Amino acid sequence: MRSCGECSLCCKVLAIKELEKPDQEWCKHVIKKKGCAIYADRPQVCKDFMCLWLNEKSKFPDSYRPDKIGAVFLPFDKPGGRQGLICYVDRQRPGIIYEQPLRDLLQTLSTRLQILVSFGGKKVMTKLGKQWITCDVILDDLTGKMDVFAKIPPVP
Ligand code: SF4
Ligand code: SF4
Repeated sequence: MRSCGECSLCCKVLAIKELEKPDQEWCKHVIKKKGCAIYADRPQVCKDFMCLWLNEKSKFPDSYRPDKIGAVFLPFDKPGGRQGLICYVDRQRPGIIYEQPLRDLLQTLSTRLQILVSFGGKKVMTKLGKQWITCDVILDDLTGKMDVFAKIPPVP
């Protein structure tokens, strides 16, 4: 069973309604590299949260821990049933998507799944054919059932 170790990246990149915490800002309760200052009393949504790396079924290697690659991956259900992944990138390290291992990881995953890359806010990057494009998205926050409504242009 994996543990988060020194990683707290989800406590930064994700919005948490219960804490009125916007995305891409550190939670006021985080103790960097140590964890949560209110661990026993943290909101249920934090207790229930598990990023893809933490779920060993994802088969992400140990070296892909979110704080190391600069991004947190989460699955989402697309309207219509197909599954996708959303990749929340640390906005302070935007160039990380062009560095390894994230660059190859995004390319590989995007051949099989719809990948949305978020730097916060309501725009995401996604792959359309061979091109990465930017489109609008409405992301619910960390509620456990992430509703994603991407306005992705149809393939020409
Ligand atoms: S991003 Fe994943 S590994 Fe990092 S603290 Fe959150 S749940 Fe743990
Ligand atoms: S309450 Fe704790 S677990 Fe939840 S976002 Fe803040 S630091 Fe992270």
